Amino acid sequence: MNRKYRKTIIAGNWKMNMTNSGIKPFMEELKANMPKAKQCDVVLCTPAVMIQTMVKAGKDCKVAAGGQDVSIYDKGAYTGEVSATMLEDIGAKYCIVGHSERRQYHGETDMMVNAKAKKLLEKGINPIICVGESLEQRENDLTMEYVAYQVKAALSGIDATALRHCVIAYEPIWAIGTGKTATSEQAQEVCEEIRAVIRKIYGARPARAVSILYGGSMNAKNAYELLAQPDIDGGLIGGASLKPADFATIVAATAQD
Ligand code: PEP
Repeated sequence: MNRKYRKTIIAGNWKMNMTNSGIKPFMEELKANMPKAKQCDVVLCTPAVMIQTMVKAGKDCKVAAGGQDVSIYDKGAYTGEVSATMLEDIGAKYCIVGHSERRQYHGETDMMVNAKAKKLLEKGINPIICVGESLEQRENDLTMEYVAYQVKAALSGIDATALRHCVIAYEPIWAIGTGKTATSEQAQEVCEEIRAVIRKIYGARPARAVSILYGGSMNAKNAYELLAQPDIDGGLIGGASLKPADFATIVAATAQD
C-alpha cells in the first residue's frame, strides 16, 4: 500500500449469496468487529436487489455499496439488465466489471468491460475493473502479456481525469474461490506491472494515483502480508467477505505503514 499517493480499498464481492434480510445482522456483526478508525475505504458489492438495503445499512459504519455488473446500454429492451443510471439512482458508489466469472459464464469480452467502465464513469460510479490470467497462461509464462492486454483494453478511450475514478483488481483466475492464494511476491509483481502499463499510457502521476487491488482467496490470515506490498492497495474479497469477523480483520490489516 502507499497511502500517500492513493486510496486503500477493501471491497467485498458477495457474488450470488446472502439476502436482504441477512444484511442487518451481518452489518451488526461487522460493526462490532471493525476497527474504530478505518485506514481504508470499505465497499460491499452485493447482488443488484440488495444494493439499496446495503446503502442504508452501510451508512452507520461507513461502508459503501457497490454492484457486481452493469449493462453496456443506457435503457430499453434489455431484459434482466441493470443500467448505470439505475445504480446511481439507488446510491451505488462502486461496481465490479469484468469479473472472471462474468467473462467465463456470460461471455463478457474486453470490449464490453471497457464499455461498462465508461457507462459507470459517466454516472460517477467507480468501476472496479478485474483482470487476471488463467493457470494455463501462468504456466506458459503469458501472465504479464495477457494482463497488460486486458488493462489496455479496459482503459481504452478513458482519459486521465476519469482514470482517477477507476480501480483495477488483479485477480488470477486460478486463485479465485480455490483457496490457492498468489504469493505476495507473485501478486506484487503483477500489480507493479499493471502500474507500469498505466504509466506508459498516462504518465507517472496518474499511474501513481491508481488503486490496484489483489483478489483471489484473500482472507483474515494472508491479508496483512499481501497488503504490505507496495503496489497492492487493497483487496477484492469473495468468500471471506461473507464472514463479518474475517472481513473486519482484513479491513484492520490495512492499518500498517
Ligand atoms: C472474487 O470473487 O473476486 C474473489 C476474489 O473470490 P475469493 O476471495 O473467494 O477467491
